[in-house]
Amino acid sequence: MDGRVVEVGDGPPPVDRDRREYAFLAPALVDGHCHVTGYRAYPNADTPFAPHRAFLALLREAGVGAVRDLGNHAEMAANLPLLPDAPIVRAAGPVLDEPPGRVEHCRLVVDEAGVRDAVRRAAAEGLTWVKTYSALRPRWVAAAVEEAAAHGLRVAHRPGRTDAVTAVRLGVASVEHLPLCLSPAVPAATAVGRRSPADIVRAWADPAQAHFVPDLMSTVAGTATAVTPLLLAWRRAAVLEEAVAEPLLDRLEAVAPYHKHLHQMRGPGLAFGRKYARRYLGYEQLRGQARQEFEQGWAALCRCLVDLAAVGVPLVAGSDAPGVSLVPGYALHAELAIWEAAGLDRAAVLAAATTGNARWLGIPPWSAGVLALPADPFTAPALTAALAGAALAVAPATATLEVVP
Ligand SMILES: [Zn+2]
Repeated sequence: MDGRVVEVGDGPPPVDRDRREYAFLAPALVDGHCHVTGYRAYPNADTPFAPHRAFLALLREAGVGAVRDLGNHAEMAANLPLLPDAPIVRAAGPVLDEPPGRVEHCRLVVDEAGVRDAVRRAAAEGLTWVKTYSALRPRWVAAAVEEAAAHGLRVAHRPGRTDAVTAVRLGVASVEHLPLCLSPAVPAATAVGRRSPADIVRAWADPAQAHFVPDLMSTVAGTATAVTPLLLAWRRAAVLEEAVAEPLLDRLEAVAPYHKHLHQMRGPGLAFGRKYARRYLGYEQLRGQARQEFEQGWAALCRCLVDLAAVGVPLVAGSDAPGVSLVPGYALHAELAIWEAAGLDRAAVLAAATTGNARWLGIPPWSAGVLALPADPFTAPALTAALAGAALAVAPATATLEVVP
């Protein structure tokens, strides 16, 4: 300890370490957008929750004590808190969408009554969020917001047929995926996604699209709507080399086994693997002009992130794990590093991912546990270095934290 924090109640010390080795304690990290899910490459009746347990172990290891799960089976939301070492979970259950549906965990609705019914079901199942998905039309997003409010739920929206600006005006609590916030409304047919992730990022460099940024800024500023950027998720989905280079890729195999194919693409395997990556994961080859435009789009996205923070828009730190090459817990660290590299202050970034996320989700910050770091994060050269060696210590409800100035 460096003398600032002398005691963390009577909870057990972090696993594998004596708590005196930690130089810095903060409320646990909160992943504001992930999906506690996974699958087995082969059936294993003995451990039906093995992928979920692997997910939770990674969260814990990385110092994450609470999550907002924005799309999962309703049964998982009910079962997750029963698993050992489960974090605090705020969940949306199945996403609300119009046919044909693009994700496995969805409730498809064909009229407004169906929307209201689905929201009431979510409330009855103990869910606290409703996720409105890509193909849902604006009138039905409005109905979801209204019905959710009547039942004490909040709405998180993925822009698509209802664009980000419209969703903000309709009063959603959060807009997910900053890269999708640029687009004007897309017709239902294309809301199920024909553009590659690289194309969506590249659009941010397109002068013809540039006027959507001030639209977004002026609409969202001054409202209560938060934005969940999920920048790492888009970079990983667009840049194959970076997805393949994820140092903890092998740890993802227990959650989503297809990552072993990405792992095998390291080195000379990449040339061979591109075809697989294009066919099954939607990667395009980013070379020359395309790569340059992608990086310009990325820079514009990063500027928008900083501008949003500057006008006081709440930013929700999230990872979208276990998406492609997104390791639970560690992907949140990497997302935060992107925010810092974009120009946000390190203290503000850490605050957003700990107390900021917790309070926004209605979770008392210390109740999700304690983020214990081996070194002062403000002296480390980069935020990822600062978060390396993070662990989650348990702070029981009776814990008292005494901080010595
Ligand atoms: Zn997601």
